[in-house]
Parts: sequence; C-alpha cells; structure tokens
Amino acid sequence: MRHGQFARRFILSVTMISVLPLLLVMLAYGSFWYVESKEALERQLHKAKQLVPMMQKAWRLNDVAALHDQIDRILLVDGVVAVSWLDREQQRGVIQRAGFVVPDKAAHQEALLNEQGEQIGRIDIYTDLAAMPQNPWRELREGVVWIVATWLVLLIVLNWRFRSWVCQPLLQLSRYVEKGGLQDKPEPFSWQRHGGSSEDELDVLARELVALKQTAYQHVQQEKMGQSVLAEERDRLRSQVVARTHELDYLSRFQRLIGNLFQRFAVMPMSAVEAGLQQALAEVGRFLCVERVSLFQHDPELSHMRYTHEWVEEGFLPTIELLDEVNTRNFPWWMAQLQQGRVLQVDDPLQLPPEARAERDTLMAHGVRSLICMPLLSSEGLMGYITYDALRQPRRWSQEELTLLGITNTLFLSILLYQRRELQLEAARRSLEQYNRKLEMLSRSDELTGLANRRHFNEVRAQEFRRALRDNLPLTLLLFDLDYFKAYNDSLGHAAGDDALKVFADCLKQTFERGTDLVARVGGEEFAVLLPATATPQGVALAERLRATLQARQVHHPNSPVADSLTVSAGLVTLDPERHPDVDTLYTAADRALYEAKALGRNRVVSA
Ligand code: GH3
Ligand code: MG
Ligand code: MG
Repeated sequence: MRHGQFARRFILSVTMISVLPLLLVMLAYGSFWYVESKEALERQLHKAKQLVPMMQKAWRLNDVAALHDQIDRILLVDGVVAVSWLDREQQRGVIQRAGFVVPDKAAHQEALLNEQGEQIGRIDIYTDLAAMPQNPWRELREGVVWIVATWLVLLIVLNWRFRSWVCQPLLQLSRYVEKGGLQDKPEPFSWQRHGGSSEDELDVLARELVALKQTAYQHVQQEKMGQSVLAEERDRLRSQVVARTHELDYLSRFQRLIGNLFQRFAVMPMSAVEAGLQQALAEVGRFLCVERVSLFQHDPELSHMRYTHEWVEEGFLPTIELLDEVNTRNFPWWMAQLQQGRVLQVDDPLQLPPEARAERDTLMAHGVRSLICMPLLSSEGLMGYITYDALRQPRRWSQEELTLLGITNTLFLSILLYQRRELQLEAARRSLEQYNRKLEMLSRSDELTGLANRRHFNEVRAQEFRRALRDNLPLTLLLFDLDYFKAYNDSLGHAAGDDALKVFADCLKQTFERGTDLVARVGGEEFAVLLPATATPQGVALAERLRATLQARQVHHPNSPVADSLTVSAGLVTLDPERHPDVDTLYTAADRALYEAKALGRNRVVSA
C-alpha cells in the first residue's frame, strides 16, 4: 500500500461527486448572465432606436453631418457595434466601432422614408454583447474561473485537512499496529494529532486498536508459552520413549541371557558346572558392563568366606589370589546386612555409614567406584554373595536390573546349592562305599585274625574247585586244627587263647603268601588253606613249613601231652576229579586226613 492513497482516492471521489454540481452552478451562472446581458442589450437597442427618427430627418435633409452625428450617437449606445445603411441607389455604407466585427445579422432594421412615406433607404443597427460596458462573456469566464479556482482551493484544503486529520492519524495508527507485529510487547501509543478534548471516532479506533494489539500480544505470548511448553513436553516424551525403548531392549536381552543360562545349567553335567559357573559370571559381568564379578562362599559357621570365583574385564588385574580367605568378623556390618537378605547397593563407598569403615576401606583399596552385592541366601542360611563391581566409573542400577539380577542370583544360588548337594552326596556315597567295603570285608573276614571267614572260604572253594577242573590244574586243600587248645584255654585263659590264635594266623600268612592262596578261619581253632595250582608235595612242604614256623614261635602250652609249645595237626588233600566229584567230597577227604593226623598222635601232616 502506498501512503496517501486513501486521501487521493477520497479527493478523487469528492472531485467526481462535486463536478456535476459545479457544472450545474456554472451553467446557471452562465444562463443568468446571458439573460441579463440580453435584456441590457435590448434596452440599449431601444435607446438606439430612439435616435433613428433624428437620423431619418438628417437623411431626408441630406444633412450628412447631422447624419454622421446621429450615427455616432447611435454607435455610442452600449452594445451597438455598427450602423449600416442602404441609399436609394442601394449603396451600402457602414460605420462601425473600432475593434469589433460586424455581425452577419442586424439587430434592428429600420426603413428610411421620405416625406411621402416612401422608402428611400434602410438603416441597420448591429449589436454585440461584447460591446456592452460589462462584457458578459468576460464576466462569465471570470465567474467560471473564480468558481473553479475556489473549487480547487477547497479541494486542496480538503485534501490537506483530510490528510492531516484522517490519513496521518490512520497512518500513525497503522504503523503502530504494524510495528513489531504481534511478537514484541506493544509500546504505549500517543497521538500526534491536535484535536479537541472530546474523543472522536479516531480516538475510539486508536483506543480499541491499542487494546486489540495488547490482547493479541498477550494471546501470542500465551500461545508461544503454550507452544514452548508443548514442545518441551514433546521433546521430553520423545527422549523418554527413546530411553524406554533402549531400556526395554537392554532388559529383554538380559532376560534372554538369563533364559540361556537357565537352559544351559539345566542339562549341564556336574563335572562341567564349575567351568559353567565361571563362564556365566563372565557373561553377566560383560552384559552389565561392570569390570569385575566376584563370588564369595561362606563356611557353614559363617566365620570365614572364601573367594571362589572371579571374573575381571580385560585390562584389570585379578584379585582372587590376594583375597583367598577372609575372616568375616572383620566385616560385621556387611555380614549383618547380607544375613538379613539385603541387596547392598553402594553407589559410592564414601557414602557407607560410619560403622562400615572396614568395608569402605577395603572397597576403596580394591578400586571399587560402585558395586551391587547380592546375597546368596537359601533355606540353609547365607551361602555367600556375588558382587558386581564398577571400577572405571560410578554407576547406578535400575529397578528392572535389580529384579533381573535377583533372578540371576537365584540361578547362581541354585547352582551352588546343586554343587554343594552334589559334593555332600559324593562324600556320602564315598563313605557309604567305604562302609560297604568294610562290611563286605567284615562279612568275608574273621574279626579276630583278619583272615577270610568260613562264609568267604565256602564261596571261594567252590569257584576254585570249578576253575581247577576247567583249567585242569591241581588244587590242594589243607585243614589245620590246633592241638589240645581247650586245655590251652583252660590253663592260660581265653584271652591268651585269642592271642595264640592270632600268632597262628600270623604263621599262616607268613607261610601262604601267594596271591592266589586263600587262608581262612573255618572254626574256633580250625583253619583251612586252599592252594590253587599246587600239587600234594608242595602242599605237604608248605604245611610242614607252617608247623615248623609255629614251633619256632614257641607259644608255650603248659598242658599239652605232645610238646611244650602249641602244636598243630594238618590234613591235606589234592583234588582228584575221580575221587572228588564235588567240593564237599574234597573237604571231607581233607577232614578225614586231619582226623587221621589227630589219631596218629597230633603235631603232624597227613595227606589223604
Ligand atoms: P584236639 O587236640 O583233639 O583238637 O583237642 P582240642 O582241645 O583242641 O579240641 P576241642 O574241640 O575239644 O576244643 C576246642 C577248643 O577250642 C574249645 C574252645 O575252648 C577253644 N576255642 C574255640 N574257639 C576259640 C576262640 O575263639 N578263642 C579261644 N580262646 N578258644 C577257642
Ligand atoms: Mg577242633
Ligand atoms: Mg583242636
């Protein structure tokens, strides 16, 4: 928009509107002047006509001077510009006022008559409005000029006043409204117009516009504020969504890791659990982006804890060798927390309570910036704990992480319980085996002498009998019976009898030292020896050697009719499949030989 356009349009409109009345005024004015001038001219013509009789007279008298004089007088009448005449010879004479043109048509024609009344000529009087003392055309022109000039002046004044009264204030107002738009705080508005004290439409308009601008400014500010609040809210929400998405992704990966660990351990043989546990600690540590994961296990009395597993990130030194076993009494605060099953979340060791001074010093000595410690608490009590140490920089843990770590901890606790139970089971199995072996031995051996008992001997003799037949090898059976042992007991006491039995057992062990030889106590003071792959002569020689050995031991027998010391009788038989169809027959044959040895005077070997 060009400034002043409104004023121009207004003036143009006023001009257009006022042109018609102006033309009408000018027309009325011109008409009035025309009529007035015409009437004045008629009156002057009448005056001139009154001079015509004098002229006729001079004409008739042929008084030229008088005639001219009359003509001059007529010419002096206002509005008359020429007088012409026609004489009898139709000669035309004209006298005209200087500076005027003779019109084509005469204003008045008068016949010149002689005394007889005959026409002798004619006189024409020419008039012209321009010859009037007040020239109507000039007057008209001047009038029009005056009107137009006045009209123009009025327009100029009107334009000037309109500009200063209306356009300038409107321009100022529009500039005020325009200035700063709706973004800047509106300045106070003051008119640069001189008006009366009473308020006019422009004042009302200005007041309302100022109010409108202020209201609009406030609206814009409120909207801006609303928009910025909205934008902040949107940004906050967006960043929240991003963070939550990352968190969810992180947690779901963590869940997957825990799921994998559970699956892996579910089918893991006991022998692989130790390595699996170490690897699982490493995987969890790596996932959580900590630099160290440590597993401590307590003894059942909780007096000591052992640093059993450690994982450290590359670039960090392991500490497990430095802290092999720790006395829990040095960390009472720590232990009290763990025994209550509390998860210890240490964002900064310096923030630990004063009573946890030892714990704080230890953590700081190990370069811990923050840690989380999960107690391994089972129905059997505190088994130990796992710490996740941040060594590079402090870190905080989310609630979800703590929940998932709780699940991981349950897994580790189950593994340790499983491991512990397995170890206990293994120990129990081993002691049971030992017990069984002992029982087995007891069931197969004689308590007093440590030799095989009768039950075992009976089992083995059947086997050896079958083997000897199968392999076609000799098998010799020896039966020993201490001589007059009842008398020994009676004279020296039962305990001495037991000792004597042990001495004889020693002699047997000494004599029959082959791995395949079987020496057994088959009765109170009766013994049997089974010698696989041994023929009669070797058997007799061995039996004799035994007898000599016993004799050499000189176990004093105060009541023996055959010797001063304890003696033994032996019956020997070597398997002969024809004579001995079964093992009982073989045994009976040996028994019979023993009986014979007794009968022959004892302290001897008799072979069947
Ligand atoms: P013989 O020369 O005919 O064999 O006479 P004997 O006295 O040795 O035989 P008898 O069968 O009459 O007696 C066997 C004795 O052996 C009876 C018992 O007091 C003794 N005896 C059996 N078993 C044990 C034992 O375990 N300890 C002790 N101290 N003596 C036993
Ligand atoms: Mg006997
Ligand atoms: Mg005897």
